[in-house]
Amino acid sequence: MGKIGETTLEIDLSALEYNFKFLKSKIEPDTRFLGVVKAFAYGSDMVVIAKKLESLGADYLAVAYAKEGTLLRKAGVKLPILVLHPQPINFEDIIEHRLEPSMYSPKLLKLFLETAQKQGLQNFPIHIKFNTGLNRLGFWENDVDFIANQLQGRKELRVASIFSHLAASEDESERDFSLKQIATFNKIVKEVHEKLEGTPFRHMLNTSGILNYPQAQFEMVRSGIGLYGYGNDPKTDQKLRPVATLKTVISQMHKIEPNESVGYNRAFTSDGYRITATLPLGHADGIGRQYGNQNGHVFIHGQKAPIIGNVCMDMIMVDVTSIECKAGDEVVVFGAGASAEEFAASAKTISYEILTAISGRVKRQVLHS
Ligand SMILES: *Cc1c(COP(=O)(O)O)cnc(C)c1O
Repeated sequence: MGKIGETTLEIDLSALEYNFKFLKSKIEPDTRFLGVVKAFAYGSDMVVIAKKLESLGADYLAVAYAKEGTLLRKAGVKLPILVLHPQPINFEDIIEHRLEPSMYSPKLLKLFLETAQKQGLQNFPIHIKFNTGLNRLGFWENDVDFIANQLQGRKELRVASIFSHLAASEDESERDFSLKQIATFNKIVKEVHEKLEGTPFRHMLNTSGILNYPQAQFEMVRSGIGLYGYGNDPKTDQKLRPVATLKTVISQMHKIEPNESVGYNRAFTSDGYRITATLPLGHADGIGRQYGNQNGHVFIHGQKAPIIGNVCMDMIMVDVTSIECKAGDEVVVFGAGASAEEFAASAKTISYEILTAISGRVKRQVLHS
């Protein structure tokens, strides 16, 4: 125990491989698989994860922003990279690094077409995003004519794919809404095939979509959270393996007398004799203040130690009165054997948020590379 010596996010690539194979087993053999590696691969390590996915046989990668794609290209990643949320200021980078932008509005498409003309591009791949109900990004159903007019006879750009995104794929009570989104997308697909040259491939499903609406897998699926070991439902979580495990060590132990307080603003006051352990991670590492004051807990030798008092910038204090432990002992915050989904729920949030919150200050250690 205590081998890690400091706060460390372990990234288990054998878990990634396991999850990749599990998700692949849920789709048809010829459906392409896009691995979503935005936000530092959900807070882990974008380059390491992207390269592993490349070696496992993923067909595509996606990032949110162009700079994330540029980083991957500079690290030598060769797979096609879809940029979900490009902005005009990113067009040069996108072209230089052969990233594939999502076109989500008339204005963006016009501007990218202008840039493509100026640069004399030929057949540059773009992806058209349609809004079918999430109302976040995307063209509307009735924009197909506009898109067709813009692209008519233009050799600069090629529509590689058309896609949409479900608003509530994990939510069984919104099944009707999801099916309506799928039906709307099918209508758009038909119109696109009639009005646009070529046959762009189609994709709509994220992780929960893969599990709940396999009939809508079309030619590709896009998975993020599932690759990292979470499936938005406890049963699926059991079938996946967490890639990231956040560990730390006990820095110091304190004996607290009755009526003493712990931490800033004296937020915790003891009602009896207590033993606390101080841990070297705080809100600057991604453990938000919402986890304090007994909301969240960590695991020490497999036992739960509640976070007491306010979360500090660089430290938290946990109650270890009933746990036998000492300075230097290892602590698990979330990950293997300590679901990030449950940890997140203790602060009324979701796995996506806690995973992507772990800051650059925390050391990353890759296992099974
Ligand atoms: C982030 C994102 C995904 C991945 O979703 P998961 O729920 O993590 O699988 C897929 N598609 C789009 C458009 C996204 O923004």
